Amino acid sequence: MSGQIRNIKGTKDLLPSESKLWLETESIIHNFMSLHGYSLIRTPIFEKTELFSRSIGQDTDIVNKEMYTWLDIDGTSLTLRPELTASVIRSYIQNNLGNQSPLQRVYYIDASFRRERPQKGRQRQFTQYGVEAIGSKNPEQDVEIILIASRIYQMLGIDDIEIHINSIGSKESRSQYSESLVSFLSPYKKDLSKISQKRLKTNPLRILDSKSEKDIKILEKAPLISNYLSKDDSQNFEEILNLLNNLNIKIIINEKLVRGLDYYNGMTFEILSDDIGSQSALCGGGRYDKLVEYLGGKATPAVGFAAGLERLIMILKDKQKNIISNNIDIYIISLDEKSISYSFAIADKLRNTLGIKVVCETLRRSMKSQLREANKNNSKFTILVGENEINNERVTIKNMEDGTQTEAPIDEIENYFGVDYEYK
Ligand code: AMP
Repeated sequence: MSGQIRNIKGTKDLLPSESKLWLETESIIHNFMSLHGYSLIRTPIFEKTELFSRSIGQDTDIVNKEMYTWLDIDGTSLTLRPELTASVIRSYIQNNLGNQSPLQRVYYIDASFRRERPQKGRQRQFTQYGVEAIGSKNPEQDVEIILIASRIYQMLGIDDIEIHINSIGSKESRSQYSESLVSFLSPYKKDLSKISQKRLKTNPLRILDSKSEKDIKILEKAPLISNYLSKDDSQNFEEILNLLNNLNIKIIINEKLVRGLDYYNGMTFEILSDDIGSQSALCGGGRYDKLVEYLGGKATPAVGFAAGLERLIMILKDKQKNIISNNIDIYIISLDEKSISYSFAIADKLRNTLGIKVVCETLRRSMKSQLREANKNNSKFTILVGENEINNERVTIKNMEDGTQTEAPIDEIENYFGVDYEYK
């Protein structure tokens, strides 16, 4: 049988033209996390289904219809992770990370999988980076998380973001609020969107997330969660807001921000940007003090966020934020077959001694074509290697920016580039 095999809907190839931007952005994230004292954690791509159904909650879209789940040969139900918090907490408990240190600061950059309807900024395989701080219940820990989540955009030159924040309080406050929300909405039941009608029974707080205009209109007069918070909850939220204010981090209090996942309590936040169209959420997070206990560990408070890497890169690309240079430093032009091994030796030496980007010709093209290739790659220099050069043990170096040419002895070629040329 023959014919082309295509990728799966909602997945994307990372092509060479984009991979530099990805690598560079990932490397900025790694450095940024390290600056804040966070260490990388990497967990398996699949887990027992129960981990996600238990932690994310049965009444969520993720668990209900978006997980890639299958039965393994031995009958165990397995799932490709739809997010990483549950896996990180599973690992935290299983590896007794709490015994190693009263506070674990970890971060991740990894693939997640959700069977959503693909559209711009929404894929079925996507990459999340995120952090989890496990062990502190104090407001400064919440603030550290919001600071990391938001400053990374500013550092990358993305200023037009909005940070929405809310407190959903303890489970008790939330269930009281949920009851009064249901009493308020019930008389409007038939005017609500289909999905909200269903949620009125299964997960009323999620109705606040609704994008339906009818629902939004009805919700205008709905009770506010802030009126249901306990004194402790309110005080804690107040302290978070004060600390953010002192750091000059501008926030918008959004009482509709409840987030869809069951394990959140206290502070929740989201970072939004208009630059990515209808999928405006760049990042979401909050406090989840019950999850460790819920998954079988010792009661341990925790707070974190997860952000989409594709959406971040989409903005960087749209804004043509020039955080990377695709250029090569030197293109080595081989004039004939005999020159090839000399060219390779020179390139090897320059890369090893100077750590610069050097590319050799391997298509055996004409000198003109090789020069064109060097220009296409914005090569700063070319080195010409041919029979004469080999016989004289000297090569010709051309500065592609100003057109000047020099000769340099093959043996000492690294000195030519080592002096006053600044490598990027
Ligand atoms: P969530 O766990 O749903 O709050 O997702 C956290 C972040 O991951 C979102 O703010 C998005 O930036 C990103 N994200 C979530 N789902 C997708 C998806 N299907 N495709 C691309 N990015 C996503």
